[in-house]
Order: sequence, then structure tokens, then C-alpha cells
Amino acid sequence: MNEMNPASNAGLAVRYFDGRSSRAQEVRARLADGRLYLIGPEVNRVLEARQVQWPERTRRGPRIALLSDGGSIQSADTAAWDAWVRSGGRSESVVVRLQQSWRGVVASLVALVALTAAGYVWGLPWAAKVVADRIPEGIETQVGDAVLEQVEGFVKPSQLSAQEQQAIEQAWQQVLRAHTAAQAARGVTVRPSRLLIRDSEDIGPNALALPGGTMLLTDDMARLLQNDTKVIAGILAHELGHVQHRHGMRMLVQVGVLGFVTSALWGDYSGILAGVPLWLGQAHYSREAEREADAYSVMALRDAGVSPVVMVTLFERIQLFRRCGDALLKPAPSGSAPVCKQESREQAEEDDERGFWGLGFASHPADEDRITFFRDAAR
Ligand SMILES: [Zn+2]
Repeated sequence: MNEMNPASNAGLAVRYFDGRSSRAQEVRARLADGRLYLIGPEVNRVLEARQVQWPERTRRGPRIALLSDGGSIQSADTAAWDAWVRSGGRSESVVVRLQQSWRGVVASLVALVALTAAGYVWGLPWAAKVVADRIPEGIETQVGDAVLEQVEGFVKPSQLSAQEQQAIEQAWQQVLRAHTAAQAARGVTVRPSRLLIRDSEDIGPNALALPGGTMLLTDDMARLLQNDTKVIAGILAHELGHVQHRHGMRMLVQVGVLGFVTSALWGDYSGILAGVPLWLGQAHYSREAEREADAYSVMALRDAGVSPVVMVTLFERIQLFRRCGDALLKPAPSGSAPVCKQESREQAEEDDERGFWGLGFASHPADEDRITFFRDAAR
């Protein structure tokens, strides 16, 4: 193919500056075979087209292409220039073409944001669930024992009377037995769990579900619920939901995805165990996990013939505790009422962040949606 080939375009009239003088020269510019030909009365040049700095078609105003020797060619006729460049076979980069189209820009931004968000919102929890569900029970038990060892460092033996502890244990076993039988009839096996009652000033009225099926109830929670064993059974049914869905394991996987996977592969848990206190302090069950555990508690309570309305009582007491504090946990001295403040939602969330025990029941502000859910379930 030579420069006279019909495939080479007829060329475009441009102003040529040689880069040394400010004098413009009228020349014809042609693009062919990857070369730029400049031909005029005093000009006859051939340049490699790819060594020319071509203008992007993103702005108005004259088109200026910079030549490698400091010269340039210019045209005020942008439409003619663009048509010439296109017919000359200079394909534009994808970016330039996208820049041409605002729709393209917006679409690619939206796609990027959506992908990132989807990966964060669904990808990680999904991956954590898949991994957690495949972790053998034996490993979960070992991890749970290690977590419990850490927790036992923060708690003391229960200060409740033996009768109070027994009443709680009995009420819970009754619900658990009825629920386990009902699940068996549905062909579902209830994972093993155990209840520990502990005293702790650090975590106040709370209940936790640890990996491996250990459920921990604090004395202060029993006190806050005025030893109402049905309400206590309700909170334990919720914690059992976390156990059944392996939320503790999921959270552990999610918080330390890589560290955990490598530890599991190599059978070395020291890495995970070092992170446990941090994990306990910072990890929150997601709202979705809380909803799953709430739904589970409704099922378990119904199996035992207990109205889910006990969960409404639970949330009301937690809300009251947020406003009135420790005064609710002690028998009130005669004639004095606890001093309670009006607490905004923001304040509740702030208190929430201050609390050390992210995993605990009381760590999520008792929100109206959850109360409504249990009210409806109780109908
Ligand atoms: Zn929960």
C-alpha cells in the first residue's frame, strides 16, 4: 500500500507550526499506513502516527496534535478533524470513547460501586457462611474452648443464689427439650449447647453465644429481668439461634478471614487465639444474624408453648436499663425511684460503641423493628 492508495484518505487542511518559528503554514495532512504525511508548498514530512500526541475528543476548541520534534498541527474544524482521524484508522482508546459518553461514565461508576458494595455486603458474609458451615465440629469446639478461656478471664462465678440459678436452668431446659423434640419431628438436629451463668461488672446485663455452643448469661441480666425465667428462656432461645446458625464461627471467619483459613489449614490456632479478645470486643453480629436469631427464638419458644411476647418484655427492660442504669439491678431502697434520663437513638448507639462486649445481646440497641417483630409474632 502506498500513500496514493485510495484507502489513504484525501487529507485535511491544517495549520502546521514547525516548533521553531511562530509562522503557521497551510498544509495537507494525510493518515495512511500508520504514518502522518504533511505536504505543503514548503513542507514535505512523514512521521510515525503513534509518536504524535493526538488530542482527545473530550473538549471543545481547536484540535491540536503535538509532533515529537516540538512542531504541531492544528485545526479549528473539530468535526472535520475527528472524521479525518477516524477514517485514518486511529482507533481511540476505550477510555476516550467512554469519556465521550456520560452515560458510559455513569454506568461504569455505578457498576464499580455496586460490585464493591456487593462484595462487601454479600460476598464476605456469604464466604464466611460457606467456610463456617464447613468447619468440622471438632475444630469449632476447640476454638470455642479457647474463646471461653478468654471470657472466663473477665467473669466471676455467679453470685445468684443456688435456687435462682436452678430456676433459670430448669426453665431453659424445659424450652430446650420441647424445642429439640419438635425439631426432631421436623427432621432437624439441634446442635449441642450449654448454659453458663456468670457474674461480670464489665459486660453488665448481657448474654453471649460463643462458638462451640456455649451460651453465657450474666447475673445482671437475670437481675434486670427480675429473675423472670420465661423472659430469660426467651433470651437464651435467641442465643441458641446464634448457636444453630453458627454465627460465632461465621463472625470469627469474617473478622479474620485469611488468618483463620491459614490457621485452619495448618492446624495452628495460636494466630486466631491471639485475636480473640479483640474479636470479642469489636465484632458485632450483623443485623441479619440478629434477625435470624430472633426468628429462631420465636420458633423455639412456640415449640415450648411460651408466647414470644416475653421478648418484648426483654427489649423493654433493656431500653429501661439504657435510661436508668445500674439502679435497676438492685432492689430499690424504700421510697427512692431510679433516676432515668431520656435517651436518644444517637445516645444509645454511642453507649453501644463504648461497651466492650460487641457480641453480647445488649450490644445492639433494642430497635423498634425488633420489638414490632415480636409483638406480631405473639399475636
Ligand atoms: Zn443476638
